[in-house]
Amino acid sequence: MARYTGSVCRLCRREGDQLFLKGARCFTEKCAFKRRSMVPGQHGAEAARKKPTGYEVQLRAKQKVRRTYGILERQFHTYYEVASRQGGNTGVNLLHQLETRLDNVAYRMGFGLSRSQTRMWVTQGHFEVNGKKCNIPSYQLKIGDVVAIRENSKVKGQIKDALEINSSREASPWLEVDRENLKGKFLALPERSQLDPKIQEHLIVEYYSR
Ligand code: SF4
Repeated sequence: MARYTGSVCRLCRREGDQLFLKGARCFTEKCAFKRRSMVPGQHGAEAARKKPTGYEVQLRAKQKVRRTYGILERQFHTYYEVASRQGGNTGVNLLHQLETRLDNVAYRMGFGLSRSQTRMWVTQGHFEVNGKKCNIPSYQLKIGDVVAIRENSKVKGQIKDALEINSSREASPWLEVDRENLKGKFLALPERSQLDPKIQEHLIVEYYSR
């Protein structure tokens, strides 16, 4: 599967915000964005001075969410198309599709320091859903599904360390986590008010409806 292999900190600088793509480092003073938040590239300062067009604002709103969840453009567009067919609020439907991905849920449960690390562990087969091995990061969870670390997983120790480090992170109330037994339950779809208020999903809808 194709994936982004460049510097992830550069993506934060490009989007003008911390996207928390590097795990524990993001919460320290070593965070590249905290040290230097300017848009990367030769013309970064110039670009920052110019007033963005409506299209650029929509594009950045879309790229920011896509990069936060680590989704490639084609799949992100597919999520949008499904969301627009679902009825109701397309932007919120889109966020629900991103939030129900197995890699995202496992990350939110604390079983990884970043979405990319959690995705790698899912791909390597360290997780199960409702007792069955699942190595598909994009697997869409349903309410009531139970995510667990597999009994014979070789990264149990690392996942326990991640849980410990993540214990100070804000919990997601729509998920129940059993730290002792390395498992968690997807209780409900998150309310929009429970998700990042900085996400401007209406701009993403406008971007794709041009
Ligand atoms: Fe972004 Fe994390 Fe890098 Fe900071 S350390 S720039 S939040 S990926």
